[in-house]
Amino acid sequence: MSKYIFFTGGVVSSLGKGIAASSLGRLLKSRGIKVSIQKLDPYINMDAGTMNPYQHGEVFVTEDGAETDLDLGHYERFIDENLTRLHNVTTGQIYGAVIDKERRGDYLGGTVQVIPHITNEIKNRIKRVAEAGDAEVCIVEVGGTVGDIESLPFLEAIRQFKHEVGDDHVMYVHLTLVPHLGAADELKTKPTQHSVRELRAIGISADAIICRTEYPLTQETREKIALFCDVPASAVVQSRDAQSIYQVPLNLEAEGLADQVCRKFGFGERTLDLEEWRAMVRNIQRPKGGVKVALVGKYVELKDAYISISEALYHAGVAQNVAVEIVRIDSEALEEKGVEALAGISGILVAPGFGARGIKGKLLAIRHARENGVPFLGICYGMQLACVEFARNVCGLDHAHTREVEPETPHPIIDFMENQRNLKVMGGTMRLGAYPCSIVPGTLAAEAYGELEISERHRHRFEFNNKYQELFERHGMVFSGRYVAADLVEMIELPGHPFFLGTQAHPEYKSRPTRPAALYRRFVAASVERARVDSADAAHRDIA
Ligand code: GLN
Repeated sequence: MSKYIFFTGGVVSSLGKGIAASSLGRLLKSRGIKVSIQKLDPYINMDAGTMNPYQHGEVFVTEDGAETDLDLGHYERFIDENLTRLHNVTTGQIYGAVIDKERRGDYLGGTVQVIPHITNEIKNRIKRVAEAGDAEVCIVEVGGTVGDIESLPFLEAIRQFKHEVGDDHVMYVHLTLVPHLGAADELKTKPTQHSVRELRAIGISADAIICRTEYPLTQETREKIALFCDVPASAVVQSRDAQSIYQVPLNLEAEGLADQVCRKFGFGERTLDLEEWRAMVRNIQRPKGGVKVALVGKYVELKDAYISISEALYHAGVAQNVAVEIVRIDSEALEEKGVEALAGISGILVAPGFGARGIKGKLLAIRHARENGVPFLGICYGMQLACVEFARNVCGLDHAHTREVEPETPHPIIDFMENQRNLKVMGGTMRLGAYPCSIVPGTLAAEAYGELEISERHRHRFEFNNKYQELFERHGMVFSGRYVAADLVEMIELPGHPFFLGTQAHPEYKSRPTRPAALYRRFVAASVERARVDSADAAHRDIA
């Protein structure tokens, strides 16, 4: 029978609960324990797919095409396992399922209530993950902060859980903030005490407390928290601000968190193998050089909007021992001010996106990359716009566009797939999840992947319009990847350019810190080369 670790958060949001849960997952996996992680999200949307990045940061996509909370991205990157739609549960799904059952008559004669009907549905979904993946340990993160009205049914469900599976199968980990007061030069434990008390009022006693802190916790502080929060001092664990999120598992290992878990669950001594992870973190700490890459998008001011892309660039850099500096460039600003913002940049990544806002800037960036031999990676909308740019400025189709922005364009280079044309339902209806792609031998794509049959995850409604393929080819575009079964374009590239490649997919979703995505890796390598040539040129000019 599986063991369950429930993660809750207190005091403030954004403490990095997802990273802490993922890190513990990595530490258990590194002990040879089969782990799974699930997120319970208290919002009423069925999934994150219909929320914009201002609401919720990026939408992460799983192999099976679920549009999930971005924490699932952290989970996958840390535990290096593919998760599914079962791993992200929302209030909307829970109520939706219960209401469907009520209409079917499953509860005939009864009053349908939060307890037990909603809480039972929540518990069933937690158990389903354990059963589907035969995980030894299921980590379950409850979104939000203890004290929120929205998360109460989830907290009640995880409280009840212990009675169903037994005390020795359940562990509650609570993450809090231990702020430092500058004036008093003191770490304050009161918010933690209050938050743990709040949790206890709901009936949950924490087994371990992870304290986010800027400064190290003294033994005295640990003992104080232990006393007031009713846990052993050894179960008060600090998580200090780290230079890289990938350091967090190592920090938590030093604090003995995973050992606590193994003791509680009676796992006995397990050999720990963190060598690959440690080597990766060493690379992060000691890069041999750096490279500046532009990320052109319309949500650049939002830290969470492009997490998977930023991480994929980061992973690609780590693998090559270079620090990738991501210069976020607002596509609307580029539209107004022109391409000067791209000076000194060695690679340009044009981000995914939807709608008209900011696309002029993206088109300018693409043209600049194409005409000046600057490495270019177009992701999804980035690829589609590269096709629009090529149609207009190389093939001479002045009014070429994507039907998404210009429904009446005379040249719909990017168009609806037939089954998308008259769609009335927006949620979960894009081309989502993993699709196979066949690569043309001898292309840049083939070189980057090192194989000809690949698969990447998708999230888009529009596709390249095959009617224009021949014209594009005559002008030098190579169609290097195809989803053969549906005859859809997956990748385009320009030979003769150091690196100009667009992909309809999102390879960033599968990038892992120890296994970077192939296209990102190759793009960063091209950017490093560009930086080398640029600096050699500059040195040459100085001498001259
Ligand atoms: N808006 C485009 C589409 O729906 C691209 C989506 C994306 O970049 N993920 O096809």
